[in-house]
Amino acid sequence: MRRGFYIGRFQPYHMGHHLVLEQISREVDEIIVGIGTAQISHTVTDPFTAGERIAMIYGALRELGRWFYIIPLPDINRNAVWVSHVKSMTPPFEVVYSNNPLVVELFTEAGMEVRRPPMYRREMYSGTVIRKLMIDGGDWKHLVPEAVAKVIEEIKGVERLRNISRKDFA
Ligand code: ATP
Ligand code: MG
Repeated sequence: MRRGFYIGRFQPYHMGHHLVLEQISREVDEIIVGIGTAQISHTVTDPFTAGERIAMIYGALRELGRWFYIIPLPDINRNAVWVSHVKSMTPPFEVVYSNNPLVVELFTEAGMEVRRPPMYRREMYSGTVIRKLMIDGGDWKHLVPEAVAKVIEEIKGVERLRNISRKDFA
């Protein structure tokens, strides 16, 4: 049994993440998705709750044909013990997939196998780009899996993001 671990904030989960997980699903038996900064929501950089992000990712991953776990991971703000924190919250895993330099560094120091997935169309498959399109009223739905767009609609996510990005009521 080989399990692979992939972590992100997923604000929101988009096609770049999805293409990476499609690839991971061909290399491992089970996938563990860690939802980073799980405790934060309703901010311009992190609009969605951990629960909402679980709904997005669950909907998108059902089609991959691999057993998967989705685990919210609150920040502990102590990098030196972060790998132990992650391991204490997840099923055992053998391989870590990440391009985040800090994540790569911490897992490598802990002696884990780390693989670097390719970046897919980063100029558009990007949480920052998608959140900006949502605020500005641009087209963003084609940048996320259909299941994710449905969840965002269900929770009125675009309205929320626009509301919290406004200046103080004068
Ligand atoms: P933000 O702009 O809010 O930081 P993001 O698109 O970088 O959003 P994250 O949740 O921060 O998304 O990323 C989780 C992981 O997914 C990171 O390791 C990141 O490098 C990777 N990732 C992000 N976009 C892509 C992409 N287009 N292709 C492949 N990997 C990606
Ligand atoms: Mg990022």
